[in-house]
This record gives sequence, C-alpha cells and structure tokens, in this order.
Amino acid sequence: MLWLAKDCIFVWSKAPWKLANLPFMWIPQSGIHNRLEFRRNSTGSWKSLRDSHSSHRAYYWFLFPAGDVFLIPVGSRSILGIVHGKEPEVKDTELYAALLRLPKPWRVREVKLDLPSERVDVWLEHDPYAKWNCPECAKTAPLYDHAEEAHWRHLDTCDCLTYVHARLPRVKCPTHGVRQIKPGWASSGLAITDLFECRVIDTLKECDVTGTKRLTRTSWDQTWHIMEKAVARGLALKERRVPAQLSIDEKAFAKRHRYETLVCDYEQGTVEYVADNRKQESLEKYYRQFTPEELSGIEAVAMDMWDPYIAATKAYVPGAESKIVFDKFHVVRTVTEAVDKVRRNEHKILTSEGDDRLKGTKHLWLYNEENVPEWRKEEFDAIRGTHLKTGRAWAIKEALRGLWGFSYPKRAEAFFRRWYFWATYSRLSSVIAAAKTLRRHLPNILTYFKHRISNATAEGLNSKIQMVKEMACGFRNREHYKTAIYFHCGGLDLYPTPRATA
Ligand SMILES: [Zn+2]
Repeated sequence: MLWLAKDCIFVWSKAPWKLANLPFMWIPQSGIHNRLEFRRNSTGSWKSLRDSHSSHRAYYWFLFPAGDVFLIPVGSRSILGIVHGKEPEVKDTELYAALLRLPKPWRVREVKLDLPSERVDVWLEHDPYAKWNCPECAKTAPLYDHAEEAHWRHLDTCDCLTYVHARLPRVKCPTHGVRQIKPGWASSGLAITDLFECRVIDTLKECDVTGTKRLTRTSWDQTWHIMEKAVARGLALKERRVPAQLSIDEKAFAKRHRYETLVCDYEQGTVEYVADNRKQESLEKYYRQFTPEELSGIEAVAMDMWDPYIAATKAYVPGAESKIVFDKFHVVRTVTEAVDKVRRNEHKILTSEGDDRLKGTKHLWLYNEENVPEWRKEEFDAIRGTHLKTGRAWAIKEALRGLWGFSYPKRAEAFFRRWYFWATYSRLSSVIAAAKTLRRHLPNILTYFKHRISNATAEGLNSKIQMVKEMACGFRNREHYKTAIYFHCGGLDLYPTPRATA
C-alpha cells in the first residue's frame, strides 16, 4: 500500500514491493521494528530508505521528515497509521550523525562524553554493505580491509573538545591495488574535519595567528599549517588569468631593507603574485607564467619609476611603452624626498648660526598641505612665512600635485613644463635633480591621462596589506609573510572542497 503526503512517501505491505515509479525497493519485515526515512532531496527525487532493526515489536515505525512518527500495527489495513507525535527521543548517535552532516554510508556508532576533561569522542562506522569506489579511478572496488583507527578534531560541542574517530576502509582496485578511502568529512588530509578547518580559516580572517590559536585551541604550528594549506589550495584552484590592469608595488618587510614585489590586480583589488626582492628578475617571474598572447591582454601597469620593473615590463608586455603608468604617489614622493634633503642641509647651516627654527619640523614638511595636523597648523604657517629654502621646496612639491587634476594630457603636459621651469630655476640642487628625473620619465607619467590608474587607488588592498604587516611583526621568515599576504589579499577560495560522498 502506498500513501503520499507533501514531502514524504509511506509504503507498507506484507509482500515485497517494487514500485515502478520509485527509485527503490523495500521489503518490509513483519514483526520487526522498521525505521524508515523518506525524504525529497534537492533535485526533487526521492531518497532511498534506510532500515534499522532494533526491536521485535509487531509494528512498522515510520519516521517522517517533519518529525512525526507513524506506528502501523502489522496486519492492520483499516487506517494508514497512528500519529504518535514527535519522535520520543533522539539518541546521541543520531544527534551526532546529524550534527556532523555525515555523508553516506557513515553513521555514528558511539558517543563518549568525558566531562572532567571537557571532551567528546565520536566513533563512526559504515554500513557493512556499503559499496566503495577506488579513490584513483572511481570504479567500484571490493572492500579489502580497514586502516588503523584515525581521529579528526571537530567543532567543539558546547565548549568540549570534540574528536571524530573512524577506521577508514581500504579497497582493492584491479588496476590500482589496495587504496584507502578518503573520509568525506575531512578532505584536506589534515587531522581535522572540514567544518573545523572552515572555523579556523574564518577566525584567521578576523585576527592574527596568536589570536586564532587561542580562540580555536590549536597550536601555533597547527594554525600556520591550516593557513598554508588554505593558501596552497586557493592558489591551485585559482583561474589562470592576466588582469587587464596591473599595479606593481614593493613592500618592505621586517626591519631590515628586505623587499617583496607585489603584483596586484588593479580592478579586483587582489594580490596576484608575491616575489622576493624588487629586482627585474622578481617581476619577470610573474610575467613568465604567461604566454605573449596572454600578456598582450594587459592594458596598463601602474608602478614606481623603478628601473628593474620598467625593464621587466618592457621585456615581456607587448606595447609596454604606452602601458606603463608611473604612479602619482611615487612621483610626488620623489620631490618630497628632495624637500627633506633641502631641510636637512638648511637645518645644518641654520644650527651652525645658532638658529634652530627647523628643529623638530621634519614631519611637517613631509605632509601634503591638507594633512598637516590641526594642532601644528599655526606653527607650520609661521615657519612657512619666514622665507626658508625648505618652504620654497615644499611649495614646489605641493604645486606638482596639481598635475593630476587635469582632464587632458596636453594641458597636463603644459602645466608640467611650467612647473619644471620653476623647479629647475629654484637654485635648490636636490629639487632640480628630482625635477630632471621626472622629466626623463614624463611620457609614462602622462600615460595616467589615458589609463587613470595608480598604485594607491586599490586603497582597500593597501590597508589590508598594512594590516598583514602589522600582524606580521612575529613573522620569522618571508615565506610566512607571503602566505599571509595571499591569505588576506589574494582573493582566493580558501575553504576545503565541499564534502564529497565517501
Ligand atoms: Zn582504481
């Protein structure tokens, strides 16, 4: 007999049933406590049923998805069943099977709570009749034996450390020999479940390794290992693609002058590649991953006026001459550095004459006008009014910033010529030198008006990198630093693959 409800099917009979329109066959066993679950899965088809025989009461017991239990006395044909309300109790094994989202054919055999040591241990077992596939070729292969019991850290149960234990089956494939089945709950090969791994990754996104290890009760090494695995997985899954707009920047790491070259996708705001040092070779390593056709898809590259980057880009990117854009912040910084040199020289001379006007003003001259702190504005205005060389140098630097406000390259170029005249007639040798550097690079400063990209527009990215650097004070080596950059800024898919059915 067949009874259909919204989302469940109810079948009962004394004789074997084979329903042409259902993807399963069920042989009811009279006198045996049959526990059945029929559910619709996401594709709308019916999931096959699951039996368990645990008592010898003379009724059939049907568990419906809504939680209703129907008890059908054997032999009764008058009515469909007795609605028994909710299932009387949920066994701990069933609770954990549900919590662990166990893939078939696994189930929970035993749950042990050890309250004094705040620990829960869950043992899994599989359906003895389960069919297995060779993990190499995915063909059905007979069960051979079981590996030694292994365990995986899982999400805590109400603050109790929780471990899942199982003996993984090994199959004997005619082609590949004896192979161990991969656990469906732990895909990355670590002694942690995927759900726990996701938790650690989520925590790492919010705080540094020290914080994560404390919050998730893992060790420093475990946490690092999870981060490294996540990055390696993300990089392996990353789609091969050359961004249309690149932004290349160098970042110092650690205290000494050690640099990493960062290749960023300007539009996506992600770090695409991290290379050691800031040599031509560093950047060429990135370009060499791609074919000339792929590299010809690059439309613009923002960078500092740094010869090794220029050389690498010209060597690999077709049409680089019109694609390189010298970043405006780096361009202005060249003149700011000249201002600082003027200040140092002038301060030395003034001090020797007993004049300490420039004492303690170093940082004031490094600010852009609008960034001078409110509480130092008065002091700054006063000192600028005293006709110092440093003040003149600073005014020349400030004027240059107007260049990027133009809409048309011709007007910007004319502006630059006027500025250049002023700067080179300033009688300030370091300002003159800086102006000459800029004129030499002018064509690729003006490409800004075609591409309008810079290193700093990926603001979000820069602040993220800054955060990584701050969190990284404990980084002992550059590999750690690189891993953290990719983790936080790489735009990678860091999470373990969706659970595959074992
Ligand atoms: Zn095989």
